[in-house]
Amino acid sequence: MKNVRHVLGISGGKDSGALAIYMKDKYPHLDIEYYTCDTGKELDETYQLIDNLEIYLGKKIIRLKAFEGSTDAPFDHKLKTLSGFLPSQQFRWCTKSLKLEPFEKFVASDNVISYVGIRGDEDRDGYISRKPNIQTIFPFRKNIWSEDVIAKILSNNNSKQVLNLYSIIASTKNSNRFKEILKQPLSINFTQVQKLNLLLGINIKEFNALVFSFLKTTSYPLAQEEYFALIDNDEILVRDDIFRILEESGVGVPQYYNKIDFEVNGKEGQYSRSRSGCYFCFYQQKIEWIWLYEQHPDKFQLALEYEKEGYTWNQDETLTDLIKPERIQGIKEEYLKRFEKNSQPKSEYLLDILNEAEGEGCAACFI
Ligand code: SF4
Repeated sequence: MKNVRHVLGISGGKDSGALAIYMKDKYPHLDIEYYTCDTGKELDETYQLIDNLEIYLGKKIIRLKAFEGSTDAPFDHKLKTLSGFLPSQQFRWCTKSLKLEPFEKFVASDNVISYVGIRGDEDRDGYISRKPNIQTIFPFRKNIWSEDVIAKILSNNNSKQVLNLYSIIASTKNSNRFKEILKQPLSINFTQVQKLNLLLGINIKEFNALVFSFLKTTSYPLAQEEYFALIDNDEILVRDDIFRILEESGVGVPQYYNKIDFEVNGKEGQYSRSRSGCYFCFYQQKIEWIWLYEQHPDKFQLALEYEKEGYTWNQDETLTDLIKPERIQGIKEEYLKRFEKNSQPKSEYLLDILNEAEGEGCAACFI
């Protein structure tokens, strides 16, 4: 049997931080390597969270940096090679060069289980490595397996093999119903998602055990493991759980989530930042740029200095235009209007307003 490495990437955001705490507390026997990919352009609060986590985990969080040996920060090094061409949602070279490539170099060709903190209340797989030696597991979700694994186990072509495997492990009183659903072929009227949800609805642990026994017949990294503790995990963790874990552990919620008061036209509002990542990230919303300008003016100034030769962080306006007093006022008013429409926010962290874009981006930067 080859050795399998277990790794967990810390983006500096709430979900990956909470996942690190959760895995340490719940699966202390797993020898997890924690790492973070540093672009050199994160907020100070992110570096603080990583330091706090290191204390809690009692383990070093490995700092991966692209372009080792360069005297420039990784982001600046790459930007120079692109003659100042700033990344954008359409040309997101930063995630690939500064996050995914250092990670893939770190794991090399080793068999790796990579734990990713996408929550049970999110509907996305995230932007993750697709290399065959890297298998992704999502411990917070009802379905802990990645899409490629699910497609294989539920495919009509593999149905006979999967039924045979199930006959060996079936143990519960609902196994007849489970078997019936397994037998039902996928079609236009019976999709993979429907089949998956029905099976998980009957018994999550039994479904996990079936997937694990199937994986043992494949070349997936988990085939190398005798046992996988997460098979017995049927917990589903959502946003409130994440904040609870961070607070109860003493690690704390990254400070950029904290609400800060502002006033516009005699009306009071509050703003914060919705997620981790580079301080100049082009995914941030206009109100978050204003937050950066007012709360971290030094960082805003640095972001502004990157805008030259026609390259800008936002497609429709420069940062110089964005901080004109009338524009700041307009952005705040617009934000307050949206907030008032959503007058009963579910979260004290303003995420009901700010998280509209939370699902965008990538697992590497924002989880
Ligand atoms: S946080 Fe934003 S700018 Fe930074 S690497 Fe990720 S996508 Fe790019």
